[in-house]
Amino acid sequence: AKRNGNEPEFMQAVKEVAETVIPFIEENRKYQNKMLLERMVEPERVIMFRVVWVDDAGNTQVNRGYRIQMNSAIGPYKGGIRFHPTVNLSILKFLAFEQTFKNSLTTLPMGGGKGGSDFDPKGKSDNEIMKFCQAFMTELSKHIGADTDVPAGDIGVGGREVGYMFGQYKRLRNEFTGVLTGKGISFGGSLIRPEATGYGDVYFAQSMLGTKGDSFSGKTVVVSGSGNVAQYACEKATQLGGKVVTLSDSSGYIYDADGIDAEKLAYVMVIKNVNYGRISDYLTKYPNAKFVAGKRPWEVKCDVALPCATQNELNEDEAKMLVANGCICVAEGANMPSTPEAVEVFQKAKILFAPGKASNAGGVATSGLEMSQNSLRLSWTSEEVDERLKGIMSNIHQACVKYGSDGNGYVDYVKGANIAGFVKVADAMLAQGIV
Ligand code: NDP
Repeated sequence: AKRNGNEPEFMQAVKEVAETVIPFIEENRKYQNKMLLERMVEPERVIMFRVVWVDDAGNTQVNRGYRIQMNSAIGPYKGGIRFHPTVNLSILKFLAFEQTFKNSLTTLPMGGGKGGSDFDPKGKSDNEIMKFCQAFMTELSKHIGADTDVPAGDIGVGGREVGYMFGQYKRLRNEFTGVLTGKGISFGGSLIRPEATGYGDVYFAQSMLGTKGDSFSGKTVVVSGSGNVAQYACEKATQLGGKVVTLSDSSGYIYDADGIDAEKLAYVMVIKNVNYGRISDYLTKYPNAKFVAGKRPWEVKCDVALPCATQNELNEDEAKMLVANGCICVAEGANMPSTPEAVEVFQKAKILFAPGKASNAGGVATSGLEMSQNSLRLSWTSEEVDERLKGIMSNIHQACVKYGSDGNGYVDYVKGANIAGFVKVADAMLAQGIV
């Protein structure tokens, strides 16, 4: 706290892990010395840099770039890049810290990292996006590499941005390597990577429901966000027999009582991924739906809630509303979308609740599969990648049950994910000595 007191999101993420991991450490002697937890909360390296670029009007613009290289005990640093005006050191450190545990849970050899910029992609032309990505990568390229640090996408960074950054890296380094994941299929990307986080979230929720002999079939599902994770969570939940009735963005949410089926979702993808527009545009084609401005969708009655937008987007009152309305399962697609008070509400009510570091790990897991394919210089089929993704999500679920079961049928997925993620990183750190 002394060193990080002015970093609220980072403190929030560390506190949640510490609360569940410290009792475990107290019961397990080998983790008690060598300042293990203290080392884990201190990034191995933080890089901050100036990003200068020229906009379409010829004005010079200045942004701040970051890369947090949190932990490399079990593999090269790995984690996404976020472009959003709210990006700061606290948010990226929280994300890099969570990422370390999440990557460990996937069972693949990936350390933890995260990066980004306070650049706001909204309203920028394609040319401006490319100029910014090139300027950002010009500095970042000095610090990353296929065996050192492998960034990917996150909020504001999708296939287009990864492509521009990859092109610039290749130009600067004169080498074609798997230095980024989330690449286009024609230059080393993996099938199913765009779908992986949302699909994985739903596979995880399906396993959770399975512990109660239940499934998505016939369930009403509320999803927040309308970006990459939300879109594919919506798709998979629908394929498994659920009815998704909401999507949102920072302006508000849409409610479609008939369900956002495949055809409607295809339109959302045009709005968001082609036109870079707003979710309220949904009403242009589907006027029977409702747009609720300035609000989040948690007031809508549902069985399953999938928060897929951003951190701290679901607070205590909203959690109470979900529980009172009969929600039985919350599986986080975003990173830390529920506030600590909201998590407490879910846990007290003993409904199924999964933290993002477990339920959204399918994205980075599939990035790990992209790295494997790049190293092997071959591509697996969609079916092959999807099967591996399902297997990984099911293993993560089992690991959470192993460490999070209270023996009376309740699973604390927060505790389970934190301890399972901790053990592998801690063992590797102990084996590698005091470094
Ligand atoms: P996108 O940029 O594709 O979509 C983000 C969505 O969240 C948009 O609908 C956006 O609305 C909304 N949003 C962003 N910031 C805010 C905010 N401050 N308030 C309200 N709404 C907001 O990002 P992703 O779908 O990739 O990421 C969503 C979440 O999932 C993030 O927490 C990310 O860290 C996490 N995640 C993503 C992974 C991936 O593979 N992409 C992997 C694991 C986790 P608007 O357009 O109005 O900003």
